[in-house]
Amino acid sequence: MRNLVVKKFGGTSVGTIERIEAVADRLLKDWKTKGEWPIVVSSAMAGETNKLVALGNQIDPTYRGSAYDMLVASGEQVSVALLAIALQKRGAKAKPYLGYQLGIETDNLYSKARILNIKTNHLLAEVEKDVIPIIAGFQGVDNELNITTLGRGGSDTSAVAIAAALRASSCEIYTDVPAVFTADPRLVKRAREIQKLSFEEMMEMASLGSKVLHIRSVELGAKYNVKIHVRTSFADREGTWIVPEGEIVENPLVSSVTHDASTVIIELQPVPAGPDFMATLFAKLAARGVSIDIITQNQLEKGQRLAFSVTQEDLPLTEQVLSEALAGQSIAKKVTDKMAKISVVGVGMRNHPGVAARFFKVLSEQQIPVHLVTTSEIKISAVIEQQHLQAAAEKLHTEFSLDA
Ligand code: ADP
Ligand code: ASP
Ligand code: MG
Repeated sequence: MRNLVVKKFGGTSVGTIERIEAVADRLLKDWKTKGEWPIVVSSAMAGETNKLVALGNQIDPTYRGSAYDMLVASGEQVSVALLAIALQKRGAKAKPYLGYQLGIETDNLYSKARILNIKTNHLLAEVEKDVIPIIAGFQGVDNELNITTLGRGGSDTSAVAIAAALRASSCEIYTDVPAVFTADPRLVKRAREIQKLSFEEMMEMASLGSKVLHIRSVELGAKYNVKIHVRTSFADREGTWIVPEGEIVENPLVSSVTHDASTVIIELQPVPAGPDFMATLFAKLAARGVSIDIITQNQLEKGQRLAFSVTQEDLPLTEQVLSEALAGQSIAKKVTDKMAKISVVGVGMRNHPGVAARFFKVLSEQQIPVHLVTTSEIKISAVIEQQHLQAAAEKLHTEFSLDA
């Protein structure tokens, strides 16, 4: 029996021909020195998916349908083929696969599809014949044979789902940072590497905008007990292990400061009192695939005000749904963009009160206005203006003793 290891390479790791050749060298070296037979999952070359999205947006930024997925999935076709050529040049029997060729079945929620099933028999039979499979991440196929995609950053989810289907105990995610840090190292210079992090905390971080892992990959890791090893493709060293909470000895109060730099707030006023209006509006948005983040409602002199946030990416679609839903009603709409969400996450918060007080004290000392707030057992988030993001992240990082 071979020691199969799923290894996922992100966009920067396959961003140039030199990088692709370096990945091929590393895969063969790890096979020779560590006995790891790679099941490779690859993203598109860095920047390619953005270009594809931009092309589609030039025609219709509100379009979400199977043609969108066909378009944005095409970047991965290039990278898996190039990686296979690089491995073949080195004498290996590598074979590139698109999602549908391996039976990666998903639902038909285009642009945000979920994996339902992965057939592993063909994959395993090929490995028996010494083939190194190079699988296109981010994509699958629905039951009507349409190509589907899993949402931006979804190659991580392809990799963990394949690891789960192969009953592997872990999955390697190679990216452009050496580990998961206490904050995005591009925003907070004093961010520190985290050695071990619980699935639960990583799930919160991913849902709050930390794009180092796609949220669904962490959910699948937790569900199927696949530990996730986030590490760099640029050096041979360990990174961060995402593991069950029970395996972590010490839980800091706050383990990370997480941000999402592209949030938009929509305010509607006056809206009818009672939940009916919200139920109908949010159902219409959900039906078009728009996820609503934070919601607040309050009574002002001019009547009931409803405010909620969506991602910048979903704004054109949200505006279209709102203009249809509000037609003929005298409800004023205000859109505030250039907003960001800043959060602190930590399972240690569960048993220790006072984190919220310190969080808001930091923002108030910096005179940063807070527009929306939400909390859970293990996180506190606030929507602030983008211009204050860096200061807020750095000061919160210091306040919760995370600085290197
Ligand atoms: P890939 O193309 O390899 O999938 P991504 O760009 O999707 O890479 O994710 C890696 C990026 O995630 C890093 O470059 C970093 O800027 C960002 N990031 C955000 N939060 C964190 C964090 N807490 N730790 C590490 N990286 C983070
Ligand atoms: N190429 C896709 C994206 O840019 C998927 C991924 O990189 O994980 O979103
Ligand atoms: Mg990614």
